[in-house]
Amino acid sequence: MADLTIHRGSHQIGGCCTEITSGGERILIDFGANLPGADNSAQTKDREMVQKVFGTRQDGAVLFTHYHGDHYGLFKKVPKGVPMYIGPLAKDILRILVPYIDRDEREKGLSIVEQMRPYEAGTWFSPVSGIQVCPLYVDHSALDAYMFCIQAAGKTILFTGDFRAHGIVGQRDRLKRVLDKYVPRTVDLLVTEGTMLSRGNEIGDTLTRSEQDLGEKAEELFQKHRYNFVLVSSANLDSIMEFYHHTPRGMHFVCDFYQARIMITAMRDMEAKGDFPEYQPSWKHPTVRVLGKPDYRWAQLREIGKTMKHPLYFKSISEEAPELERDGFVLLARKNARPKTYTSPFDALRDKFLDRDGQIIYSMWKGYLEGDHADQHLIDFVGGRPIEHLHTSGHAYVETIAQLIEMVDPKVIVPMHTERAEEFSSIPVFVPWADRVQVLKDGVPFSIDTLTVKAKEEPSR
Ligand SMILES: [Zn+2]
Repeated sequence: MADLTIHRGSHQIGGCCTEITSGGERILIDFGANLPGADNSAQTKDREMVQKVFGTRQDGAVLFTHYHGDHYGLFKKVPKGVPMYIGPLAKDILRILVPYIDRDEREKGLSIVEQMRPYEAGTWFSPVSGIQVCPLYVDHSALDAYMFCIQAAGKTILFTGDFRAHGIVGQRDRLKRVLDKYVPRTVDLLVTEGTMLSRGNEIGDTLTRSEQDLGEKAEELFQKHRYNFVLVSSANLDSIMEFYHHTPRGMHFVCDFYQARIMITAMRDMEAKGDFPEYQPSWKHPTVRVLGKPDYRWAQLREIGKTMKHPLYFKSISEEAPELERDGFVLLARKNARPKTYTSPFDALRDKFLDRDGQIIYSMWKGYLEGDHADQHLIDFVGGRPIEHLHTSGHAYVETIAQLIEMVDPKVIVPMHTERAEEFSSIPVFVPWADRVQVLKDGVPFSIDTLTVKAKEEPSR
């Protein structure tokens, strides 16, 4: 007997967790926190989620699709003894992100991250007996993100996680190549993300179509102003690489130590993968300028930079350095999340240069500037000034999801990670498969054996 239960995520973006059970064993795919600011009003709060998933049983294995907080954020609540799996570079990135996120937290997560086991792209493994999983390397705004092809009770499930096809990793038809190579001919169940179902109207408005478009537009913008403040998530590496490569020659590309560490960690790993020139150092900018004075931690940064095929150098720079004023810059700016105790060099640079020939380029989801998920620190950085929107979605367009459906021809399609699950089958591109769409409710098991909802049963545990 095998079931799939979306514990959270059948009707919301973020905070997701899905369970697959077979013969009494279970895997959990993702164990995410609600989106920032959403926990108080959420139908299932994070606290309740932990209880739901691990309240009565502390077994199984947790497989994270990628390093976004809405997919891994509750990792500290996974009971000891339950193994956690993640992509190898995603683990390296978490080693940098988690201590940073935890700096004011009592409960530190780094030692837990260290225990996560890396899985290997394209290699089947068995996290618990009776369930086999093959991680498929896909494009997303988090680097090192995976779909999972899963075999349980003689059925094949394709679980997309967050994905897209318009970033750097998605180039040259990666999605098709990966599916052709690793996914068996018959897919019984497709569980697909549907974030863009409610955000499609942003394309062409505040969203550019692809990372490549973003890079080209960035270059145009950088040529108009001398002092460029780019607000971008430090872990959105595709976009950061586009900003880096499109920084005009003669201007400085500037970031802080934290961003530099994430960048070089990603570049080293991507160089090892071999086919991503966008992740190689730029001939225009072989030296990245890093704000602040170098300390003992710099040795590691320099060491990795030197080992690159085309070396990347890091040179410290102070906010007062005259060459910043003289030559201009593209700066990866960040909000100040601790304004009471910390003076941010980004704030200082903004105050000094923005009104002189500067601009703020906003490369994040617009939802963080207004509405339920608004981030006050980000709003404070912008301070009501005009901004240039330059962002591309981390999620698949409806046409991309339709292509995926066409390629794998699943018997049943379950949407998740969407606010519009009910509308899925009536969206014109999905109409040919409308009779295969099955909308689930959080906590209600779906039988993998019969491919039907077990609606009469009590909600899982
Ligand atoms: Zn994500």
